[in-house]
Amino acid sequence: MTSIKNNTKEKRGFLNKEIKGFLEGKRAIGVGFATKETMYSPKGIPSADITSLLPEAESAICFALPLEKDKIRAYLRKDLPHGRVDHNKNNFDTYIKIIKICEELKKILKKRGYNAALILPNFDYRGEGLRSNISQKPYISLRYLAVRSGVGTFGWSGNVLMKGYGAPILLGGVVTNAKLEPTDPLPESESVCNNCKLCTKVCAFRFMSDDEQTTVTLGEQTFNYSKRKKIARCLMVCGGYSGLDKTGKWSTWCPERHPYPETDDDVYRIFAKELDRPIRFHVREEREGFDRTQLNQDPVLKEVFSGKEHAARVFKFTNLSCGNCQMICWGDPEQTAENYRILINSGCTIRDDEGYIDVKSCDEAKKYYKIKYPDTDQELTPKQKEYVKLIKECNET
Ligand code: SF4
Ligand code: SF4
Repeated sequence: MTSIKNNTKEKRGFLNKEIKGFLEGKRAIGVGFATKETMYSPKGIPSADITSLLPEAESAICFALPLEKDKIRAYLRKDLPHGRVDHNKNNFDTYIKIIKICEELKKILKKRGYNAALILPNFDYRGEGLRSNISQKPYISLRYLAVRSGVGTFGWSGNVLMKGYGAPILLGGVVTNAKLEPTDPLPESESVCNNCKLCTKVCAFRFMSDDEQTTVTLGEQTFNYSKRKKIARCLMVCGGYSGLDKTGKWSTWCPERHPYPETDDDVYRIFAKELDRPIRFHVREEREGFDRTQLNQDPVLKEVFSGKEHAARVFKFTNLSCGNCQMICWGDPEQTAENYRILINSGCTIRDDEGYIDVKSCDEAKKYYKIKYPDTDQELTPKQKEYVKLIKECNET
């Protein structure tokens, strides 16, 4: 890239083009640009504020990389022994690719005299320690950036969907003080969401509403997706603390069991009981998965995560067990319906006597686990009562 001052529309467009070319060269499947103005939230949504990671930021760049669909099918089918580990590896390897692309782009922009900061694609939340993990509020929402800059559109699930890919994509982003030309959101006609609402049915604790919607306004453009219930519902399931679907007829990869929480208080209570429990996800004879050692050894990753030890720890130790709302939706109604069929016929996981995950029919699986009912279980300890208060606060403010 040659050095330019981008103080005219033409020069800004030129810089856009160069960045787009760089990202497409890295196999990005969509690239978009937003500015402080196009991301302006009249409600003051903190994660729409692109200056939160770089106070002088004027623009943001957003892009997407796809996940591998054959691995998603094996994951949804609960193929043993590698179905879970292979998809987990593909997901985290893709995150690492995104981080490295962002870091390279950041350095290119810096060489040109601009300042820039990367947006970590996951696990970097506002707030301290446990509170940040329970609230799950990103500094900058990559989903907002992606829909506002035209990388994709919201599906009913609230995930970002792209034509030809659906929802199994991961997003990356960089903020910079360079002025870039904003790109427009995609028109409604480009949406690949057909409102099948299967995404709501593959969420074991029904995080997303079937009929109520949320509206977000960014830079005078309005976007809609499903209204969400309390984030603790997703954290219980996606976090690997409970895996049995509301219907009792299938599970995620998680072998832990709680009854479907009818009320918010039920979910806070079971979440408080589980919060300190270590999570272990191993399938007998599964192959080596995501190389976690690179987070301590790779110089680029060490630099990116320096000062972000909490995010690095979560990155390192997270094991995927759900993500169903994203993984089933391929942007093609027949494929999505097939993914749904595969998942609800995939059986139930159990933890065997040696602690390994196995898959059984749901009837057979019932012999292996006891559903922990929050109100008949032993009373909450004083520490768990404190957790309930914290969880409630994080979910309701
Ligand atoms: S599964 Fe996908 S296509 Fe169907 S409603 Fe949900 S987001 Fe839309
Ligand atoms: S990731 Fe899983 S638990 Fe979270 S909202 Fe999606 S389907 Fe529900």
